[in-house]
Parts: sequence; C-alpha cells; structure tokens
Amino acid sequence: MEDTIMEKKDLDWGNIGFTYMPTDKRYVADYKDGEWGEGRLTADPTVVINECAGILQYCQEIFEGLKAYTTEDGSIVTFRPDLNAERMMDSAVRLEMPPFPKERFLEAVDAVVRENAAWVPPYGSGATLYLRPYMFATGPVIGVKPSMEYQFRLFATPVGPYFKGGAKPLTICVSDFDRAAPNGTGHVKAGLNYAMSLHASVTAHAAGYDENMFLDPGTRTFVEETGGANFLFVTGDGEVVTPKSDSILPSITRRSLVYVAEHYLGLKVTQRPVKLAELKDFAECGLCGTAAVISPVGKVVDHGREICFPSGMEEMGPVTKKLYDTLTGIQMGEIEAPEGWIRKIV
Ligand SMILES: *Cc1c(COP(=O)(O)O)cnc(C)c1O
Repeated sequence: MEDTIMEKKDLDWGNIGFTYMPTDKRYVADYKDGEWGEGRLTADPTVVINECAGILQYCQEIFEGLKAYTTEDGSIVTFRPDLNAERMMDSAVRLEMPPFPKERFLEAVDAVVRENAAWVPPYGSGATLYLRPYMFATGPVIGVKPSMEYQFRLFATPVGPYFKGGAKPLTICVSDFDRAAPNGTGHVKAGLNYAMSLHASVTAHAAGYDENMFLDPGTRTFVEETGGANFLFVTGDGEVVTPKSDSILPSITRRSLVYVAEHYLGLKVTQRPVKLAELKDFAECGLCGTAAVISPVGKVVDHGREICFPSGMEEMGPVTKKLYDTLTGIQMGEIEAPEGWIRKIV
C-alpha cells in the first residue's frame, strides 16, 4: 500500500460545536426479502423513501451514538463499539425490526471512520468524530404492523469539545412529564423516546434549567434519568450509587464508569433504586453519556425546593473528577485500558 500523509480538514476543532456537518462518506445497507443486502459506502447524504414508509407513519426507528478520536500515539480508535452493536440489536428486537449483525455493524463503523479519517480531530483538541448508526422502516405500511423493509445507515460528523472553558455544574429540574411508560421502551434507544421528550426539554430550558430529571413512570418517587444521560451519585463516604430501573437506557458510559470506579479507583459501587427523597444525602451528582462522559450536576430543583450538592456550582466534585479523568485517560490512550475497550481503526 502506498504511504500517504493524510491531510486533515481545515477546521477550527476547538470551536465546531455540536451540529451536523456532512462528511465524505456514509454507509448504507438495505433489508429486503427477509435478509440484509450487501452494504455500501456512498457520498450521497440524502435518503429517498416512499411516502408510506413505516418510519414516517408509525415511527419505527432506532439509533446509536459513539465517537472516533485520535489517541496520544496518533491512532484513530473507537470506544467499546461492540456494546453499541449489541444494544442496537436489543433495540431492534423490541421494535420488531431485523437486528443488524454485530460483525457487520463493527465493519461499518471501521469503514466510515477510515473513509472520513481526515475528519477525525487531532489528539488534544477535545473534539471527536461523532458516529450515528441508525435503522428505520422503509417499506410501506398503512395497517399498523412492522415494515417488511428497512435501511441501516451510519454517518459521521465532527463535534467540538463538550466542555469549553471548564465543566460548569448543571441545574436540573424534576419534570412533571414522564419519558417512559412502565414496561415500555425507556430501555431501548429509539427515536420515539426522544420525540415525546422534546416538549419536556423545551419547557425546562424555557424555565432556565439545563436538563430534566425524569422520575420512575409508575410511582414518580424514584430517580430515573434525564432523557439523554444516566445519573451517577456519590455518597459522603465516597460510594458510587447508580439508579436501577427497567426503564433506564443502559448507558455504555455509565457501565464503563462503574467498572473504572471498582477496578481502577477501588470504590464501592451500588446499583439500586434511588428515591427522589434521598437526593439531599448525596455529596456529588453527575450525568453520564457518550457526548460529555460526565457532566457535573450542582443543583436539582423539585418544584421550588432546591437540592444543592456539596460539590457546589463551580466545579466537578472530587470523585466525579477522578472518574472523569480516569475514563477519558483510558479513552485517549494515556491510561491502560481493560481488554477489548479500545478498537484501533487506523
Ligand atoms: C444514549 C443514551 C444515554 C447514554 O448512553 P451512552 O451509551 O453512555 O452514550 C443515556 N440515556 C438515554 C435515554 C440515551 O438515549
């Protein structure tokens, strides 16, 4: 193979924000006649589907989100993409869609990252190449039933550093809306969960809050998540607590942080139902997700009652910071990763 020096795109990596920017190639595969066809890379960012496609009528869609980035030694890698592949297969089963095979998912990720290597931000910029795999019903349905045809796509878009000028703790409010129904779809990554959370999020933003805290849909007494990130709490004794519920989306970041807490930092971790009424007893609170890894939460407002965490409104709490530094260090190749966590692509 010819040895070429790749030209990076001329972007202001530190200031690109979190918006869609089309890149050179995306991956597409179609499901028809009971099987997934051969995938292909294309330069065309548009999708043309029938007016009666299942996605347009009954919202049959699932998605994933992960990042490719440059590590300290100059490699381009992804973080635990096998877990995104598996979670997407679980989501597909719940929405009566044909799972896209794990190996093919991983090959698609590798291919899209390789083709868009010039769009992967350099090490140290804080920016990453965000990858969005998704699948939707393309076949026509008018009677309510699963579609017979689907499309799997995966595109990449560069995104800027999540915390510009430091991680300022968030203020969140306890929402009067629910994001998931008991025994519903809260635990799967489906666009429909987001469509119905938009009103809650616009309402919270208009009232001056950064995010919503959703409660358990059955009793509204336990903490669930925000709609895009899982909660992680730290007790005064340095124990990490994460809420347990069947309607929480199993965040890969949260699962990774739990491992880091136990195996790298020697902390006790408990996953259990967390009552809204016990929030005042925690020392630190954070939100976990791919985009930010952990965003610190300084304050929760429950209908005028303020719950202020001792970590304050200026910086991350000490345990949250250690978790953040260790996981980002593992991702960037500065700290040795557990077996299988980093997939090297280039
Ligand atoms: C994607 C998502 C998360 C975060 O999951 P990660 O795998 O850590 O990115 C949390 N909650 C919801 C509802 C999500 O859709």
